[in-house]
Amino acid sequence: MSKKINPYDYFAHEDDYAGIDYDAACSRLAEALRCKTVYTGAESTDWGEFEKLQGHIRASFPHIMAAGAFELVGHSVLITVPGTEPDLDAVQLIAHQDVVPVVPGTEGEWLHGPFSGDIDDEWVWGRGALDIKDMLMAELEATEHLLASGRAPRRTVYLAFGEDEEVRSLGATALAAHMESRGLRSAFLVDEGTTTLFDGAAYGAPGTAVSDICVSQKGYLDIEFVARGEGGHSSNPFGGTSLERLCRAVALLAASKPEPELGSIVAGTFEALAPHITKPPFAELVGDVEGNAQAIAEAASGVRELYPFVCTTVAVDCLEGASTAANVMPGDVRATVNFRLLPGTTGPDVLAAVERAIAGTGVEARIAHETPAGRVDSVDGPGYAELKEALEHFHPGVAWVPSFVCGGTDSVRYERVCGSIMRVCPFRPAPEEEARGVHGVNERISKRTYAQGIRVLTRLLEHTAFSTDF
Ligand SMILES: [Zn+2]
Repeated sequence: MSKKINPYDYFAHEDDYAGIDYDAACSRLAEALRCKTVYTGAESTDWGEFEKLQGHIRASFPHIMAAGAFELVGHSVLITVPGTEPDLDAVQLIAHQDVVPVVPGTEGEWLHGPFSGDIDDEWVWGRGALDIKDMLMAELEATEHLLASGRAPRRTVYLAFGEDEEVRSLGATALAAHMESRGLRSAFLVDEGTTTLFDGAAYGAPGTAVSDICVSQKGYLDIEFVARGEGGHSSNPFGGTSLERLCRAVALLAASKPEPELGSIVAGTFEALAPHITKPPFAELVGDVEGNAQAIAEAASGVRELYPFVCTTVAVDCLEGASTAANVMPGDVRATVNFRLLPGTTGPDVLAAVERAIAGTGVEARIAHETPAGRVDSVDGPGYAELKEALEHFHPGVAWVPSFVCGGTDSVRYERVCGSIMRVCPFRPAPEEEARGVHGVNERISKRTYAQGIRVLTRLLEHTAFSTDF
C-alpha cells in the first residue's frame, strides 16, 4: 500500500527569490484563470477568450514585452527573448493556453466558479489552475523576474503556448513548423508532465518519495478489426457468423499481447531508485539492472502501477455491428482496439504482429489512428542535469527519476527543433488535489505550491539561459 504523501514535507528554500511578489503573481494567475479558453474546434471556439488571455499576458510582463517579441501563430503564442549570444541554441519553455471544459452536470459541485479565478488564504481556484495555466504563467513570472533584475539572457528564451493541446495539438504543430522554417533551435524544452509525488512502494522502495522527469511519451494507436458478414436468418450459420470470427480474432489477439520489456528509460528509473529499493523482487535484481532486465520487466508487469511502463498495452474497447436479435445474423462487425506503444515501438510493428496473431480468422485489421511514441531523449542530454538540480534544490528528499508519460502532450511536436525534451510540471501539489482537480471539479493550486514552482523555473532559467556555464 502506498503511503499518503504531504508534499510540503519536501519543500525547501522557500525564501529564495524573495524579490518576487508572489501575491501579485497569484493575482495574475487568477486573472488568467478567468479567461474561458476552452478549445472546441477552429470554427466554434470563442477566440475572444484567448485574446483576453493574450492581452493579459502582454499587459502583465513589461520587461518581457520590452526585451522580447510577442507573435501570434494562428491563435498560438511565441514569445522570443533574444539572447546576447544568438548563435547558441535557445532554452524553451512551453505550455498550452486551452483548458478542458467543465464536465456537464458537475457545475454545482464547484465550490468556486470554474472560471471565477477566486483567491482565498490558501488557494487560487479555477479550471486550468493545475492544467496548465499555472505553468504558463509561472514560465512568464520566472522570465520576467530575471529580466527585471537587469540581466539579459545569454541564450535566447522561447516561450511557446499552443491553443489546442487538449484536443489536437495543431497549435504546437504550427509553432514548431514556424520555428523550423526560420531555422530556430532550442537546446532543450520543458513542457508539462507528471506532477505527482508518489511513494516508491510499487518499485520496492516504500517510504521514498519519488517523482519523475519524463524524456519520452508513449504512442497512441487504434487498430480496427472488421469481420465481413452477409447477415440473414440464423437457422443456417454455416461457417460461423461474422461476430464469431471477430470474437475468435479478439481472443487470439488477447492471448498474444506484447511481452514485457525494459526499455532504456525504465532501466534508468530502476537505476536511479536502486539505492532506495529494499523489497523483493526488485531488491535482488537492481544490483545489475542491465543483466536482469528481462526479470525486472516481468516482475514490473505484475504490478499495476508499473505495468504500462514495461508493456505496449492492449485495450479491447469498442464493438460495433452485432445483431440486436438472437435469430438474425449480423452483417459486418467491427472491433476497435487501443494500443499504447512503448517508446521504440511503432504502429506498423504492432499491426504486423496483430496480423500474424489473427491469421486464418478471415478478419481484416487496419490502423485507424496513430500518434507515434516520442523520441527517447537522454538523461545526459542538455538541460536534464540543470532541471533535476532545480527540482532537488526546492524539493530535497525526493528521488527524481527518468520516466516517460503514458499520455501525450504538445512537446512531441517540437522534436525537429529541440535537442532534448523534458516533461515535468514544476509544481508538486498534494496527490489528491491533482487526482481530483485535473480535468475534474474544484481545480485549484495552493499559493505555496505555485510560488515554489515559480522558483524552480527561475532557478532553471538562471542556471541555463542566463548562465555563462551552460
Ligand atoms: Zn495539459
